[in-house]
Amino acid sequence: MKTYQAVIGLEVHAQLQTQSKLFCVAPNSYGEQANSQLGWTSAGLPGSLPSLNIEALNLAIRAGLALNCRIQRKSVFARKNYFYPDLPKGYQISQFDEPICMGGFVEFNSNQTKRRIHLDHIHLEEDAGKLTHNLGSTLVNLNRAGVPLIEIVSKPEIHTPQEAADYLRHLHSILVHSKVSDGNLEEGNFRCDANVSIRPVGDTRLYTRTEIKNVNSFRFVEKAIEFEIARQIAIVEGGGTVLQETRGWDAAANKTFLMRKKEDAEDYRYFPDPDLPVIRLTQEYIDQQRSLLPELPDNKKQRYLTDFKVSESDAQIFINHPEISHYFENVVQLGISPVTAAGWVLTELLGLLKEFQIESVSLSKVTPAMLSDLLLRVEKGEITARSAKKVLRIFFESSENLSVQEIIKKENLSQLVDVESIQNWVDQIVKSFPNEFQQYLNGKDKVKGFLVGEVMKASKGRANPEITHKLVEALKEKKTI
Ligand code: MN
Repeated sequence: MKTYQAVIGLEVHAQLQTQSKLFCVAPNSYGEQANSQLGWTSAGLPGSLPSLNIEALNLAIRAGLALNCRIQRKSVFARKNYFYPDLPKGYQISQFDEPICMGGFVEFNSNQTKRRIHLDHIHLEEDAGKLTHNLGSTLVNLNRAGVPLIEIVSKPEIHTPQEAADYLRHLHSILVHSKVSDGNLEEGNFRCDANVSIRPVGDTRLYTRTEIKNVNSFRFVEKAIEFEIARQIAIVEGGGTVLQETRGWDAAANKTFLMRKKEDAEDYRYFPDPDLPVIRLTQEYIDQQRSLLPELPDNKKQRYLTDFKVSESDAQIFINHPEISHYFENVVQLGISPVTAAGWVLTELLGLLKEFQIESVSLSKVTPAMLSDLLLRVEKGEITARSAKKVLRIFFESSENLSVQEIIKKENLSQLVDVESIQNWVDQIVKSFPNEFQQYLNGKDKVKGFLVGEVMKASKGRANPEITHKLVEALKEKKTI
């Protein structure tokens, strides 16, 4: 049996984080009443003239710099002509043969292998409106029409569905870190078209591809490509020919479906938009945009490993979730050691957010100031780590807005360092668990943890753990109850 290699190229549309649309002053906002966010050009009013949003241009340049592209000193807007109800002008303003960025690459780890996927180019374009098909009628909402996008086109260098998903995750992280796009997947601000073809292993030609349109989840892209590879192999093995077509992804049915036979570039009759001037950039302007780029994920990861000494896997979680790493850095800035802060944020805090179904750490009732206050008290020995976990939980459960200190007082959680009372609990536990105590005296050291745990429980987590350990250790010397 022949074996096949998949050849995958990805086109990502990322929405730029601007206040207004690409060519008019209408707001770039989501979730507003249908057709309430229109400007003249996005509504396609005859005679209206587009005027470029400079912030969108700047963000496109920064995206290119973050992705190692060559920023073109000259680029041109082109009209992409097609007729569709979501496009009242009858053409989309895009870029064609002279886009804003050329080349570039995304480097990431996939399946423990370092991969570098090259980009063909990045172009700047406006979004179209949104159609909702409903029971035989179609509704048009033009709020999204004219919103600025960059389209990031990779070379067909990806060969597995997993590699495609890893590429997208890394690209997404770079765009979010560089503040080019908010990357909101639910709102469709980062969506992917996947071009997929197969070829016999060893062949270097490109065979006919299909394009899967508009998938906005990493997992779905992976599944859609998986399905598409299998579908194409089945066609070829059955003696058929793969046809060039545009397909959609049906997440419920777990398969791709035919949308339309694909148009080629010449069908769009691209030509330079006569309403817009050619963009000419100086090197100074490009350098200035570079200086405005925030820290990128690869540099950040390095900083976390070197300066913060957090583990590789923790660093990766922070890179993938910028809002969590922002929170974490605030806690560190307030005097908590990075390793301690990482543990509390990633395990305790995220655990509670999940349990109480709070979507984002930015909506947490516990602010970085409150968490650092709590952890400083653990460090000073005022409360035990166990009590601190209790305090955190109370923040989530309680409807009152209490401070750390108030909760400690109210719940009587301050740590006990007084040897006599801890000794009382130790004596009590020894009486309650005579068998375990005997095993301990017989040299079964594992039981020690159990006894210490029971003392902690009896003290409601308040007993100083070190003193407790010492007293339980001392039992061995005494050999008596
Ligand atoms: Mn496009």
